Order: sequence, then structure tokens, then C-alpha cells
Amino acid sequence: MVYTKEKSKIYQKEYYQKNIEIFREKGKQHYQNNKKKINKRTRLWQERNKEKVKLIKNKANKKYDFKYPEKKKAQNYAHYYKQRDTTCSKCGNVENLQFHHTNYEKNEGFTLCTPCHVKKHHPY
Ligand SMILES: [Zn+2]
Ligand SMILES: [Zn+2]
Repeated sequence: MVYTKEKSKIYQKEYYQKNIEIFREKGKQHYQNNKKKINKRTRLWQERNKEKVKLIKNKANKKYDFKYPEKKKAQNYAHYYKQRDTTCSKCGNVENLQFHHTNYEKNEGFTLCTPCHVKKHHPY
């Protein structure tokens, strides 16, 4: 085989990818073999660090609020609409209701069931 830089590069890439599979597989196996232990450890840690867990969750939520204030508002509004409107405004379905936004900023929209909602977004 004629040695070229190109070939060596490709070889290295392939070698890396092959190994990444092996590493991934090993990690998965490790988890499968020690699932109970790992889960128990996680649970114990969470129980011992309830405050910390709460803080982490709060932080994550706040980050989300900060990143998507409009979306968060919209979610709250959608929740409110779901409680208020218990039927699809198009076909009267009472199940799988979703909120269709016509304007995220002003929180305008109406309630639709999933099939009607899909049709609304993909009419063709
Ligand atoms: Zn419907
Ligand atoms: Zn929609």
C-alpha cells in the first residue's frame, strides 16, 4: 500500500469512529450491568441533596424562562385555554386538544384537536 497523507487521515477517522462505537457499547453495557447500582446511587444522592436538586431544577426552569419568555407565556396561556375550551373549535372533538397560536406575542389563538391542528399547519 502506498502511504499517503490522505489515506492516513481517512484511516485515523475510521479508527476513531470504530472505537467510538466500542466505547459507546462499553458504556451501555456498564449501565446495563450496573443499572440497579447506578439508579440506586442516583436516587440516594437525590434524596440526600433534595435542596440541591430543587435548585438545579429551578435554575433550569429559570434559564428556560429567560431564554424563551414569549414561549413560556404562551405555554401558560395554552394551559389556560385548555381548561377553558374543552372541545376542538373545528370539529368538536374533546380529546387530544392542542392550542393553535395565531399570534405568539399577543397570545391569540384557538383550541384544536391534534388531527385538525395538523391539517391547519399542513393543509395539502
Ligand atoms: Zn378537531
Ligand atoms: Zn398551531
